[in-house]
Amino acid sequence: MYVFGKKEIEAARRVLESGQLFRYCQDGVTESELLEREWALKFCCKHSLVMSSGTAALICGLAGMEIGPGDEVIVPAYTFMSTALAPLAVGAIPVIAEIDESLTIDPNDVKRLISPRTRAIIPVHMRGLPCNMEAILQIARRHDLLVLEDSCQAIGGQYRGKYLGTLGHAGAFSFNQFKLLTCGEGGGLITDSKEIYDRALILHDSGCAFRDAGFAPNVQLFAGVNFRISDLLSAVLRAQFGRLDSILSALRGEKLIINSELASRVRLNPIHDPEGDCGVVSAMMFETPELASRFVRTLEESGIAAQRPIDSGRHVYSNWQPVLQKRGAHVATRDPFRVSPFVPEYSPEMCPRTLSILKRTVLLWTSATRSREDLMKVIAEVRRALPSQTI
Ligand SMILES: *Cc1c(COP(=O)(O)O)cnc(C)c1O
Repeated sequence: MYVFGKKEIEAARRVLESGQLFRYCQDGVTESELLEREWALKFCCKHSLVMSSGTAALICGLAGMEIGPGDEVIVPAYTFMSTALAPLAVGAIPVIAEIDESLTIDPNDVKRLISPRTRAIIPVHMRGLPCNMEAILQIARRHDLLVLEDSCQAIGGQYRGKYLGTLGHAGAFSFNQFKLLTCGEGGGLITDSKEIYDRALILHDSGCAFRDAGFAPNVQLFAGVNFRISDLLSAVLRAQFGRLDSILSALRGEKLIINSELASRVRLNPIHDPEGDCGVVSAMMFETPELASRFVRTLEESGIAAQRPIDSGRHVYSNWQPVLQKRGAHVATRDPFRVSPFVPEYSPEMCPRTLSILKRTVLLWTSATRSREDLMKVIAEVRRALPSQTI
């Protein structure tokens, strides 16, 4: 949670007092509908759908793209595990690609992994760092693939002047406690495609046909589930959206100072669009894993939040047990790993370059609320903790 306060409390109170706590209502517009309009307007996209989680948004995005059994979806080896589990949830097979030093999916490895069954790529803007969207979109066009941007960690980030999540065919967002904006739990999908939106809407709420007054789909109705958001959460999220620009400018301001203070002392990871980067972390690379872990330990002793991404648990593919052990569903008959004719081999060693990069990188977290004075103190500590020869 970055910034949270009176506005959110006021928004929640307004909804509680109205007694209208639901995403759809018979008369008047709901907070959820207002949020969706405001979001689409700000991000310049045609359709937006708020729902219960980022994982739900990824699943709805894939369903919206009509991805299912027999299809392969390429995901990066460094991302929260749900990016890789979402394809399984729609019956498809996740194919794991290496990342490069930008900490995002390596377009060259994506090319290597394309098969006749590949239908989509999920580039993930990890820690707010934009992917190489030019290369990814070019590959997608050439091979007729769909692109679902996982922008869960990159709300408001941009690539060459366009909001992350609007460059591909659809973008997924999360509003859980670790993200740039939060309402407790929440997620959302944005797209310019009416068909993707319609299928996502139908999957996210099997009752949308009678609940949503404006429901006029271009696609056939099918069995959905329930990933609906509460209007209480949407109201809180609207207040959070009002803070997005100031949160981002605080984070980007800190990162600019950190990086300019450290650039001569340490190798900073390359960034595909430094201006569009959300500024969530400052990422630096060391020659060896040992230098990186010693640096983290020294920082921890001074109470500074830093981490090697290799130590971030289920953000690293080698800790994705359901994938590595090929347990893709609750019953074998629904398990893509059992019913698909082609299943790739997975192993903890399959992406050696990713492991090497994640072991040698250190992430230093920025803060949206820290004073300039406190930031300069942290930077002084970081300079002291740096090994003498790192560049
Ligand atoms: C948080 C996150 C998700 C999942 O979001 P939930 O709201 O927790 O379901 C998916 N992908 C990435 C990259 C994330 O960081």
